[in-house]
Amino acid sequence: MVVVRLQQEAERRKRYIAQIPRWRHPLVGYMLSVPLVGLGFLAAHLEKLLIHGVYFPSLPLILPILIVALIWGTGPALLSVLLGTLVLDYFFLPPEAFGITSWDGVLRILPFVISGIIIAIIAGQREMARRRALFAEQEVREHAFELEQVNQQLEQANELKDRFLSMASHELKTPITSIRGQAQIMLRRLSRESRLQADLLPVRAALQKIDEQTRRLNSLVDDLTDLGSIRAGKLELRPGNCNLVEICRDVVEDQRATSGRTIELEAPDEPVTLRADCDRLGQVIVNLVSNAIKYSPQDCPIEVSVSQHDDVAVIRVRDAGPGIPREHQERIFEMFYRDPKAGASAKNGLGIGLAICKDIVERHNGRIWCDSLPGNGSTFVAELPKR
Ligand code: ADP
Repeated sequence: MVVVRLQQEAERRKRYIAQIPRWRHPLVGYMLSVPLVGLGFLAAHLEKLLIHGVYFPSLPLILPILIVALIWGTGPALLSVLLGTLVLDYFFLPPEAFGITSWDGVLRILPFVISGIIIAIIAGQREMARRRALFAEQEVREHAFELEQVNQQLEQANELKDRFLSMASHELKTPITSIRGQAQIMLRRLSRESRLQADLLPVRAALQKIDEQTRRLNSLVDDLTDLGSIRAGKLELRPGNCNLVEICRDVVEDQRATSGRTIELEAPDEPVTLRADCDRLGQVIVNLVSNAIKYSPQDCPIEVSVSQHDDVAVIRVRDAGPGIPREHQERIFEMFYRDPKAGASAKNGLGIGLAICKDIVERHNGRIWCDSLPGNGSTFVAELPKR
């Protein structure tokens, strides 16, 4: 472990040295410490000549150590300490200062050596901290670059997926429309017969099944197309003058006919008009009513109501199904989110219908939410400004 750390530190040091300017290379420091200590010696000598009596030759000799340590680091600073010690010993201390009985020389040199070593150690730590900061900065920069690249790749993959989705849904649309059209033509022909032959009864049932399933498939493909547009921020609105009462009535009649369920409509006699994309609002109501049909028991009625107050129009779709726990009530409007209970049940779905509803309502500057108590049914409310 220690060996690995030392190796890492040595590697970092090598890389650090390779990055710093040439004049700051430790070798330059080793070479320049000789003339710098020489200058210190001259200054100390001048001090000796000028000040008669007590003088401190160590002071001018500490200065080169400080300079060398700050610029070139620990190694060259330690060499300066050694050179300074030799200079002090040779030029400024009398030979008798060092003896078996005399500690005078040692005591006079020791403060210089200790302060020199402390300066070199502090310089070394400073250098190490600088090195670490530099490498941390480099690592952060490298990671940020990698992250950006991964992000770009993800964005590309996402774009590719969205393009595939929109192409696939576009390609699916034609055969589905054709199959459904043919089934409907056959059904119309059969309905013209006053008395249907017994062997044609299963054919009619099969055609009805084809019609119903292709209708489901069609709305699924529509949802997928809308999903692509929403993700690309390209869901187009074609604003016009809409009467919400009329839209709700059409949806309710259509859903009643196809599902055979009891769907009640409560609407004022006068029209509830607003400027909006009528088809898209119809799509929101279809989604809410189909969910009410899907998630509530067969024998429970569904209520749709339209009202207006102040400057807003309000659509409510209520069912007597199992309800939605509070913690899921907001999340079901997220793309692909399904109440875990719904996910585990046989009710299939992709979890995109309500996200599309939310997008459409919000594009009309409205709000959509769900009021529900588990076991007490759910009410989905869409509030739209009339402007
Ligand atoms: P899907 O129905 O395809 O799963 P939606 O976006 O329409 O997708 O609905 C998201 C989830 O909201 C559903 O999976 C279901 O858990 C819950 N949900 C929607 N409408 C109702 C409802 N009327 N009653 C109970 N749960 C509902």
